[in-house]
Amino acid sequence: MPGRNPADLARELGLPQAIKLASNEVPYGPLPGVVEAVAEAAASSHRYPDMGVVELREAFADKLGIDADRIATGCGSVALAEHLARVTCLPGDEILYSWRSFEAYPIIAATTGATSVRVPNTAGHEHDLRAMSAAITDRTRMILVCSPNNPTGTAISGTELSRFIDSVPDDVLIVLDEAYREFVTDPAVPDGLAAHGHRPNVVVLRTLSKAWGLAGLRIGYLVGQPAVAATVRKVVTPFSTSAVAQAAALAALKQADEVARRCALVIAERERVTTAIRELVPDVPTSQANFVWLPLGAGAAEFGAACEKRGVIVRPFQGDGVRVTIGTPEENDAFLAAAATAL
Ligand code: PMP
Repeated sequence: MPGRNPADLARELGLPQAIKLASNEVPYGPLPGVVEAVAEAAASSHRYPDMGVVELREAFADKLGIDADRIATGCGSVALAEHLARVTCLPGDEILYSWRSFEAYPIIAATTGATSVRVPNTAGHEHDLRAMSAAITDRTRMILVCSPNNPTGTAISGTELSRFIDSVPDDVLIVLDEAYREFVTDPAVPDGLAAHGHRPNVVVLRTLSKAWGLAGLRIGYLVGQPAVAATVRKVVTPFSTSAVAQAAALAALKQADEVARRCALVIAERERVTTAIRELVPDVPTSQANFVWLPLGAGAAEFGAACEKRGVIVRPFQGDGVRVTIGTPEENDAFLAAAATAL
């Protein structure tokens, strides 16, 4: 979700620019080669894109070491989550997820007529997987598991995830939302695709919006069993992965080394910001993503407003906490300075 426009805020405050740390984007601009690929694709924009997204699905498949028939692409991974809900749920069925988690989940459930079943996070801001298992009913059709979790940044260990997946009936689809997978450093946190991608009822969602720097072009992908991926490919809005998006994604995928370099910078800054902000907010959970969570409870909105007054846009969740995206070192310094005066 977009949040406050930095240009408007800068104008309002009379600052040369405002800093946006609200949407979990990586701050380093498009990857090398992307702008050129976009320009080239734009030259043929009077033509429809490849509806089957064949070349891009093959590029993803090569990268992951799997067959392209296990992949579907969409207008962001959020669209794919919605398509999955549409193909699995009828009105009255249940979609289970931990809360607080990605804000789109309740919207996705509502648009399909499914009932949202939210299981509160633990006191440590993690998924309560035992409680989630216990909340499965005959009506549960889909479970969204977000690791690392947006907005708390916490991630699920391999043992816990395996135990949970084993507890889920075979006819319930488990969607592992790994939008922030590239920022994981804890070796106990598994790559969901490598660990569980072979299971018939597991689908993994990934995106090029975060580490791959293509949020504005809207490309997500899912990996599931061929039948699941084929079903999703049938229901996606035709041509929803645009020609420009396909070209940009193909160019971005050639930049894996640069992505790794950028992720390392973000991770180093995440550690620095976490250490510094814990001086002010001691119970900040350890993040495995490109953002940190400040559990400020009733003070969240006020903190968000105070940061904005200093030209830093963060994401407050009223009554709960504030999510702050990791930016460049300078942007993070501006945030830490704003936080020190706000708290
Ligand atoms: N999953 C999670 C957990 C997210 O935080 C986001 C973006 N904020 C998405 C999915 C969707 O990303 P996109 O639609 O840009 O691929």
